Amino acid sequence: MILDGKKVKDELLDKMQEKITKNNLQIKLAIILVGNNPASQIYIKNKEKACNYVGIEVEKYVLEETITEKYLLELIDQLNKDSSVTGIILQSPIPKHLDFDKCSNSIIPSKDVDGFTKENIYKLYLGQKTILPCTVKGIIKLLEIYDIPIEGANVVIVGRGNIVGHPLSLALLNKNATVTVSHSKTKNLLDVTRQADILISATGIPHLIKKDYVKKGAVVVDVGVSRIDGKIVGDVDFENIKTVCSFITPNPGGVGPMTVAMIIDNLIEMKEGKENYG
Ligand code: NAP
Repeated sequence: MILDGKKVKDELLDKMQEKITKNNLQIKLAIILVGNNPASQIYIKNKEKACNYVGIEVEKYVLEETITEKYLLELIDQLNKDSSVTGIILQSPIPKHLDFDKCSNSIIPSKDVDGFTKENIYKLYLGQKTILPCTVKGIIKLLEIYDIPIEGANVVIVGRGNIVGHPLSLALLNKNATVTVSHSKTKNLLDVTRQADILISATGIPHLIKKDYVKKGAVVVDVGVSRIDGKIVGDVDFENIKTVCSFITPNPGGVGPMTVAMIIDNLIEMKEGKENYG
């Protein structure tokens, strides 16, 4: 069965739009893009489209590739202080002469839509309520919507990146899954992935996960995004694996749309529960 992230996203956005209208929530998202990375431009367009749909105002700052770190930090400081701004996204990657870690951590935790500031990640580590990174939240939401049990499940995550694999492992532990994290130094990856009730791959290596890596009846979630000849390719060999697993995400159309939906979800939570943050 397909874990249809696109369909779920559309349904969630309709509910979110209703809630924003009904409660007259005035939400504004500030998005900062430095330079003209083509993939970033697509990601921002998708975020903007979803915001427009639900009635969230977007303020976009497209900055020259050559800006100084001081300039970027001052802009973030100004947005931090602007009470009309609910959340801030600093789209990655940013040019190499700018320190992404330093700049993204200058966003105050209460406006950190992506959930990547040290304070918010530390709360995740402690198992406290926090703003969850959107891809992590989207994967969990998708599993929950399809009634896939997480508690007690053997979850194998392939990839320990800071954006997906690592925070996802913490979030799933907090949900009482038994979590194994594998990576490029893992020996006999296939022996590890075959133990999974839920197998989640987040590496960006095209078709790393093949049919024999998957236990019969497992749930397979493909997070990876690579481009071959301009076409999006996931980590998972979808065509061959769909015959052995119980559930599988298409890619595109699985985790990506859920990530976008969770940006809106985070913004609503931040607007409604501001006193819980920062
Ligand atoms: P990352 O920081 O680049 O990490 C990649 C991970 O993959 C690393 O931990 C690396 O291991 C592991 N890896 C590489 N080759 C491997 C192999 N042969 N076997 C096992 N593990 C291997 O990645 P990220 O930023 O977390 O993102 C992961 C992927 O998700 C990327 O493709 C990204 O584009 C995609 N993504 C998708 C969405 C979405 O909404 N769909 C959102 C965010 C990211 P080492 O640590 O040992 O190097």
